[in-house]
Amino acid sequence: MCTIGGNVATNAGGMCCVKYGVTANYVLGLEVVLADGRVTRVGRNTVKGVAGLDLTRLFVGSEGALGVITEVTLRLVPSPAEPRTVLATFADLQGAGSAVEAISRAGITPSIFEFLDRTTIGAIEALSPLGFESNVGAVLLLQSDDKAAKEDAAALVALCEEAGALDVAVSDDADESHALLEARRLALPALERLGDWLLDDVCVPRARIVDLVRLVERIADDEGLKIGVFGHAGDGNMHPTVIFDGADQGARRAARRAFDRITSAALELGGTVTGEHGIGRLKSSWLTRELDPVASDLHALLKQAFDPKALLNPGVALPR
Ligand SMILES: Cc1cc2nc3c(=O)[nH]c(=O)nc-3n(C[C@H](O)[C@H](O)[C@H](O)COP(=O)(O)OP(=O)(O)OC[C@H]3O[C@@H](n4cnc5c(N)ncnc54)[C@H](O)[C@@H]3O)c2cc1C
Repeated sequence: MCTIGGNVATNAGGMCCVKYGVTANYVLGLEVVLADGRVTRVGRNTVKGVAGLDLTRLFVGSEGALGVITEVTLRLVPSPAEPRTVLATFADLQGAGSAVEAISRAGITPSIFEFLDRTTIGAIEALSPLGFESNVGAVLLLQSDDKAAKEDAAALVALCEEAGALDVAVSDDADESHALLEARRLALPALERLGDWLLDDVCVPRARIVDLVRLVERIADDEGLKIGVFGHAGDGNMHPTVIFDGADQGARRAARRAFDRITSAALELGGTVTGEHGIGRLKSSWLTRELDPVASDLHALLKQAFDPKALLNPGVALPR
């Protein structure tokens, strides 16, 4: 659930971004109220248009720090074809990682391409048993909504099998597809039940997903915490979820340390500190670490130009 303004202000994304891209790809124009009360329209109503700087793109994802969005003009796309869904289980991360690489290289564009790790699978089985065997160490969930979905699904099955999948299920039935996707939908609710939680959001190059998950496993061991990883394998955007006992001061500190170590690992792997959730307050210092000094200065200059009195979301998103 979210508001349209919040969706645009965070440049939100989700499961279908691997094919369709994020919110920004659909925003043609905006009405924005500036910090001094002036109202402006940026962007266009036409399919194409390159007049002036792309102020629309500047406001999308600015997390309310540059202006308040009051109207949005969106691009429409045709409805997708009936999807085919594929669920593949793997004994370990390596197999799932090989499948991710093979699928990414194969020239197929799945509309959903999701990953679940062993901890998340265990949590899902504890909440609502879906029948994953105890030897399952990783799951990939894929969907194609292309006109050639049948051929795509057959190719996805073959690629998962070649990568050593334990089991591959495929469906063209809407109810059955819904049931296969249930595992992904349950990921966060299943982890949330295990205690207090800190949901991270980092994005790494697809070829480094396995390295990220391995690092998260090591961090979980070091800090004595449970950390489930699930997310968008197709674009490398993972959501390591740190579980801890909020009543225990030591566990709270360990959880925060783990969160920071994961965010740092994402940068070291050539990734970014947030793939879709945004910077907010929690990651404002991380933005400064990710940006080079010149880019950091440009952010500060823009904030100063749009909001000289720092009225809009002070301390959020943009470095000062
Ligand atoms: C459990 C959980 C799961 C999430 N999953 C996802 C996910 O899958 N994908 C994803 O992209 N994000 C996700 N998020 C992050 C976030 O909730 C989304 O990006 C969402 O779209 C934000 O919209 P909202 O209406 O909730 O905005 P809010 O949380 O109310 O606001 C978000 C930011 O946008 C600003 N804002 C809100 N409205 C406007 C406006 N009209 N004009 C200017 N600025 C405005 C606010 O000031 C704030 O800085 C998740 C968050 C949580 C807690």
